[in-house]
Amino acid sequence: MESFISKIATLAENCHCGNHHPITIEKITVGNEMLKDAVRYIGEKNYQKVKIIVDNHTFQAAGKELANQLERADIPFTTCYILPDENQDIIADERALVQVLLESSKETDVMVAVGAGTIHDIVRFCSTKMGIPFISIPTAPSVDGFTSMGAPLIVRGEKKTFQMSSPIAIFADLTVLKNAPRKMIAAGFGDMIAKFTSLADWKFGHLVGGEPYCKAAAQITRDALNASVKNVEKIKKGDEEGIQILIESLIASGLAMLLFGHSHPASAGEHHLSHYWEMEFLRQKRAAVLHGAKVGIAASILAKIYKSEFLPFICNGMEGIDENLYIKIKEHKEEIKAVYEQIPDSILLRKWVEQLGGETHPEQLGIENDLVIKGLNEAHKLRDRFTALKFLNEIVKIRREFASEIL
Ligand SMILES: [Zn+2]
Ligand SMILES: [Zn+2]
Repeated sequence: MESFISKIATLAENCHCGNHHPITIEKITVGNEMLKDAVRYIGEKNYQKVKIIVDNHTFQAAGKELANQLERADIPFTTCYILPDENQDIIADERALVQVLLESSKETDVMVAVGAGTIHDIVRFCSTKMGIPFISIPTAPSVDGFTSMGAPLIVRGEKKTFQMSSPIAIFADLTVLKNAPRKMIAAGFGDMIAKFTSLADWKFGHLVGGEPYCKAAAQITRDALNASVKNVEKIKKGDEEGIQILIESLIASGLAMLLFGHSHPASAGEHHLSHYWEMEFLRQKRAAVLHGAKVGIAASILAKIYKSEFLPFICNGMEGIDENLYIKIKEHKEEIKAVYEQIPDSILLRKWVEQLGGETHPEQLGIENDLVIKGLNEAHKLRDRFTALKFLNEIVKIRREFASEIL
């Protein structure tokens, strides 16, 4: 992965979009014995007050071994066990944030996030607010947020993403990741296939809706997506090779966001739909659902809608739309067509996720048809970002009533 950082640097050098942000991650390593590597790194940095942040599961998965290694290396540390909520979920909300802040002190010189996406979001916030660097040790290849700066947090019952800091180093241990629950591996793949729709929406938003763009970030994300999809059989096996491909794809997707400074490469209509569902679950105080599981399903729903409604609209006259928009779309029609045509059929997207043991329909996650329809009608309002979902709602003015048409 070291060479991967240099690959990104080369791509970035050749892109003159003016939107690049510095990548301040010093070390990205994926392989075996990575916990030892992490301890070696901590030793080299001469950190003397290490705070490990875990929950009960991730302590068993990697925290315990990390603690043993630190002990052996004679590096002082303390451990913070994030407590679950009443649904037994670990949630990045005020309670967890305050717990970590209270258990850390100004003398802490590094935090180590040992966990999946949520623990990273909590640590990303706390470390930035306290001005303490953090190291990432992912315990599941379940999301692409490990290397990014965005921390989606739940504050007063609402989920919002805050721009914080990226880790200074990431140590992805394949033995740990291989042992992650199957559902979390399928969720990681779900977060990757969401890039089919996010990349299409990003290009469209840029060409037509004035969204900023970066060729290099798009290329990094596209390459990562292709690697995951091409190797779905290997990922299904769950062996080291497959898990390595998946975690590297997720890390790369996070780095693309870091380079661009925003989530555009990795998050568009499908993520907005998923956020809408999530907010409704929060309101009802229902148990959380894995991010990647939701966005994978949302991407397959949008794949169908984009291909059956958006593309035909763009290709057939665009009746009734504003003249300026009409001219812009017409000018870039071939490019827009090409990028949406690259999205695979929703049946194929679902088949891949199913092969990995993930859920493929909203009701399997407890998301009722009603909520799916509401989301399709409302989710575009959550973010001020130009997507085909927004376009279908606000320009084409499609109102949905029946889930049977799109599921
Ligand atoms: Zn995501
Ligand atoms: Zn660029």
